[in-house]
Amino acid sequence: MDLSKLNPPQREAVVTLQGPLLVLAGAGSGKTRVITHRIVHLLNERPDHILARNILAVTFTNKAASEMKERLVHMAGPRAQGVLVCTFHAFGAEMLREDIHRLGWPRKFAIADMGDQLAIIRRAMREHRIDDRAFDARKVLGLISKAKNSGQAPEPKPEGIGDDYDLITHMVYPDYQLALKAQGSVDFDDLLILPTRLLREHSDLYLKYTHRFRYLLVDEFQDTNLAQLELLKLMAGQSKNVCAVGDDDQCIYSWRGAEVRNILHFDHFFPGGKEVRLEQNYRSVQMVLDAANAVIAKNPERKAKQMWTDRKGGPKVKVVACPNDEEEARFVAHEIQKHISLGVPADDIAVLYRTNGQSHPIEEMLREKNIAYEVVGGSEFFDRREVKDVIAYFKVIVNRLDEISLMRIINVPSRGIGDVTVERLHAHSRAEGVTLWTVMRKASEYDDLPPGAGAKVHEFVDLIERYRAAYEHGQLAVATRKLLEEIGFRDATRAHATSATSADKKLKGVDGVIDSLERFEKREGPKASLLTYLNRLSLDNKQEDDEDVPGSNRRVTLMTIHSSKGLEYRLVFFIGMEEDLMPHGGMQGEAQNLEEERRLCYVGITRAKELLYLTRAVTRVKRGKEVPRTPSRFLEDLPEDVIEHVTPDAPRQGPPTAEEKNFFANLKERFKKPQPGAPGGGGVPPGGRAG
Ligand code: ATP
Ligand code: MG
Repeated sequence: MDLSKLNPPQREAVVTLQGPLLVLAGAGSGKTRVITHRIVHLLNERPDHILARNILAVTFTNKAASEMKERLVHMAGPRAQGVLVCTFHAFGAEMLREDIHRLGWPRKFAIADMGDQLAIIRRAMREHRIDDRAFDARKVLGLISKAKNSGQAPEPKPEGIGDDYDLITHMVYPDYQLALKAQGSVDFDDLLILPTRLLREHSDLYLKYTHRFRYLLVDEFQDTNLAQLELLKLMAGQSKNVCAVGDDDQCIYSWRGAEVRNILHFDHFFPGGKEVRLEQNYRSVQMVLDAANAVIAKNPERKAKQMWTDRKGGPKVKVVACPNDEEEARFVAHEIQKHISLGVPADDIAVLYRTNGQSHPIEEMLREKNIAYEVVGGSEFFDRREVKDVIAYFKVIVNRLDEISLMRIINVPSRGIGDVTVERLHAHSRAEGVTLWTVMRKASEYDDLPPGAGAKVHEFVDLIERYRAAYEHGQLAVATRKLLEEIGFRDATRAHATSATSADKKLKGVDGVIDSLERFEKREGPKASLLTYLNRLSLDNKQEDDEDVPGSNRRVTLMTIHSSKGLEYRLVFFIGMEEDLMPHGGMQGEAQNLEEERRLCYVGITRAKELLYLTRAVTRVKRGKEVPRTPSRFLEDLPEDVIEHVTPDAPRQGPPTAEEKNFFANLKERFKKPQPGAPGGGGVPPGGRAG
């Protein structure tokens, strides 16, 4: 590898292989690049004769992981395949797959999704005679998750503190934990907490894992939470070869438990290490960088960073006030169309927003103009009812203890197992202290079931057992087609649909599952099992990035700022620059949140390489009424000499003017030439990728 493609501090970070190392630096300074180069350097140098399999790199999303892996293979060849690149959660899942039985879970555990979790919580609430309509189960789930992550055991509530929700949480938490384990499931938090327990409580496993993974690298370290830090501390073993990179100014997940202290006090958790600062920004032109610096400078209590770029000047940041939200969408779509017609690849353009709902008007306008786009994380595919039903079949086939899924499909499609039967089966399961499945298997022994019900339950049990065997032989898509055929799933779906179009849509959902299974089998080869498919699904869904959504890749990207972490685009439209959206609602006065909103704004701005649009609507339709909007306070922080005010007026909607053509032609010229020292000499496709 050519170390000359790195600046001196980057090089230092890449070649310092032993002991803890922190790279703390601003956006676009090449932190992710340091990680990839360091891995290649490890593969070349082989300290302690390590192999690829001894290296673990942790990224923030699955998407970032697969891109980094691709990048590594591109740089170091096939031997890089052995490096494990994944998220903390995926790593935890991997560990649990090998060793969870040591903690009393079945080896084939399932990962509960949000729907499963809420169902368990609602059931527990009802058992405590708490009205699950009066109290929000989601909120309870959030509180339980918080308690779990801060290491709190499921214990009865200590006297005298907290409100109703605290009380409910303390009542429900132990039941929730028991129910999860009883059905052989873990939740998302367990993917971090249980591996930590494995390492702490089983010294042989501690040795096994710390010996296997001897060089650890973590990207986006500022957004790690306590549980992740604990796991990392243990995994660091005796040698403590931990390289963490991050930017405290980009900590944007504190609402989900991210602890910026992890990065600010890195030397406390990993003493005796080295710290490297990077100051040159390679991503953005001066104008964009100045705007970003001006916004973030207003945050108190940050480690001040001086960023510079040698990409002087560049087009000014365009601040655009549109009459209303529809006009904002029209303006964005129009500008996108113009840039594409001038040669900017669509996948080098991104539209960023604070909340998911903001994408809809933009989507409509892009569709109208026939511009291909992709909404990251916006796929509601796996929330569709029939898709959930099919997935529930998979879950039961893999794990018969999964009562939540079992209940979902026991009479779907309708097979004559009614509420009374289900009720009685439950009663028997409780009375005998055995699982529902055990009771179902001997259903004919009970004489309090409605006539004929016992036989129907048997048929269902037999169906599940048969398919359990069928899926053992791989061929997931084939088996699924047969299963759906046998239970008449398509006919039932069609019969239940309110119209032909809705039936079509529902059946497309079913086909989508089969397609996604086929893609999965192709990717995984003979290793593909229903269990790994399910685990992959829950990890992907949770991470809010959906590589499984089909389509070409030359598309404009639409996503929330949260999902845009680490990515870069030549053109960025940051929309909805208004109070209430950016910063997001009700933040006035709440200093801590306001700081996070400012960091979000900084993250959004720093995604742009060449040209940044900050758009806002003067009025917005809310619940059918047009409401006036206040410009974002962050706009006021931008120095006048880096911005240009644009008013979208009628003539601008036409073809580009001569002046514009000239401007964009220059820009286009610039796009064609790879930047000096650009990654892989331009061998990397544009858009999205960074580092
Ligand atoms: P973020 O904080 O947004 O994650 P980052 O610090 O990880 O940013 P990278 O994505 O690694 O930054 O780098 C930003 C861009 O700068 C990338 O396109 C990368 O290839 C380029 N880059 C980084 N270092 C150099 C260098 N020494 N020479 C040329 N280009 C570089
Ligand atoms: Mg990065």
